Amino acid sequence: MRRISILGATGSIGQSTIDLIRRDPGAYDVVALTGGCNAAQLAKDAKDLRADVAVVDSADCYAELKDLLAGSGVEAACGPVAIADAARRPADWIMSAIVGAAGLPPGMAALEQGTTLALANKESLVTAGPLLMATARDAGATILPVDSEHSAVFQALVGEDIAAVERIVITASGGAFRDWPLERLRTATLDEASSHPNWAMGQRITIDSASMFNKALELIETKEFFGIDPDRIEAIVHPESLIHALVGFHDGALMAHVGPPDMRHAIGYALHWPDRRHLPVARLDLAQIGALTFRAPDEARWPALRLAREVMAAGGLMGTVFNAAKEAALDAFIAGRIGFMDMSGIVEDALATMSAQGGQHNAALSLDTIMDMDRQTRLRVTEHLEHRG
Ligand code: NAD
Ligand code: MG
Repeated sequence: MRRISILGATGSIGQSTIDLIRRDPGAYDVVALTGGCNAAQLAKDAKDLRADVAVVDSADCYAELKDLLAGSGVEAACGPVAIADAARRPADWIMSAIVGAAGLPPGMAALEQGTTLALANKESLVTAGPLLMATARDAGATILPVDSEHSAVFQALVGEDIAAVERIVITASGGAFRDWPLERLRTATLDEASSHPNWAMGQRITIDSASMFNKALELIETKEFFGIDPDRIEAIVHPESLIHALVGFHDGALMAHVGPPDMRHAIGYALHWPDRRHLPVARLDLAQIGALTFRAPDEARWPALRLAREVMAAGGLMGTVFNAAKEAALDAFIAGRIGFMDMSGIVEDALATMSAQGGQHNAALSLDTIMDMDRQTRLRVTEHLEHRG
């Protein structure tokens, strides 16, 4: 039996992972499940899957988790340190599906034990790409991409030499507002930004899709994971979300990965890698689909893409700043403090401020340095928001 753990088990990716595991329960020995504060869901899954331990992030729901698990044989724990400890428990495969930079410390802990890490938590690559990749290398651990575009690229590269790659093209649905007039975006509400045309995902990534910050993070994720020059990475709007990415080779061939917009494909590929097994995803009827369309992304509408290019060119800790500022700006939008189109301005200010403070040059590979820059950036955003009133 394969020992597996799921970080962020109560979220959209976590639940899709559990859906796949439940289909073949005899194959897996579940070690740890972690969640934020949804104790009811976490306790239910931990009992059903006979996990060794279930951990919530917030102390507010620890009592509830303990009550729900009393007498079940599943250990209960709480807090970020306990989540990282859970990730350190020996396992053969660990899903990293916490949302945000909070996924970095447990992801690092998992890699340090030399496991295979299925990485949905793109923020950890954006915030600490070189550190994460070096940690995996040193520990002999494997990182498998779960983001649909990166899984698609990874699959298109099987049997290929990365040196023969001319370009990588990742697709973007365009999110909730792809057909809205630019003027209307300024008044877009939280509800409007929280519904995605093609994918069912957690709220934060859904809003990031509408603002294209998700694609911006993914450009950086592509650079960090595949180690490819930023000039060779492109994003293209593809409203049907059926092609997830394309890899262009020196001979002019462009290999596309086509599939339904269902994350269980990318999760299942990482779960069974390097094998391919049957997965419960829809099979595409190409004749019925008829046409696939593409358009160039409009940077006036989506400044996040330009900012990602600047971040990739600058290097150093600017990925950390970009991710932390984006998370803080998203918090402010969700809290109703700023408008939808204000988020990119806040991130741009943080990049300029932190770069002036040396963030651009300090590329030290340490988790503490990165977490410190993350904290300073969030403080900068708070100051900026207070200043604008
Ligand atoms: P989600 O919000 O549905 O779930 C996030 C999970 O993390 C939940 O279990 C939540 O309780 C937990 N969590 C939140 N904050 C936490 C904290 N501070 N500490 C510990 N746990 C915390 O998010 P999701 O849509 O499942 O996305 C998870 C990750 O996967 C993100 O990095 C996202 O960008 C990435 N991703 C998601 C999709 C998708 O289809 N949902 C696709 C590609 C990549
Ligand atoms: Mg994606």
